[in-house]
Amino acid sequence: MKASKQCPICKKDIENLQEQYCKNHSKAKKELKKGYEAWLKAYGSLSWDDYLQKILNLEGLVGDFVREIAQHEFYFSS
Ligand SMILES: [Zn+2]
Repeated sequence: MKASKQCPICKKDIENLQEQYCKNHSKAKKELKKGYEAWLKAYGSLSWDDYLQKILNLEGLVGDFVREIAQHEFYFSS
């Protein structure tokens, strides 16, 4: 029996079971983290939640996958 796991955001099967999200959303999460590091440098101090909030306010300026991940992390993490 093959274990299957779905992406909590788009419900697609996750191919790599080490990942928490599907391929697209895992990639978006990496971009989100990279963006956070860059913003952190620019702002000096910025919490992950504040960063997510800012990303969510930037509607249209970030990709759909990135926005979905930010939304998911904001509401369901911590
Ligand atoms: Zn997904």
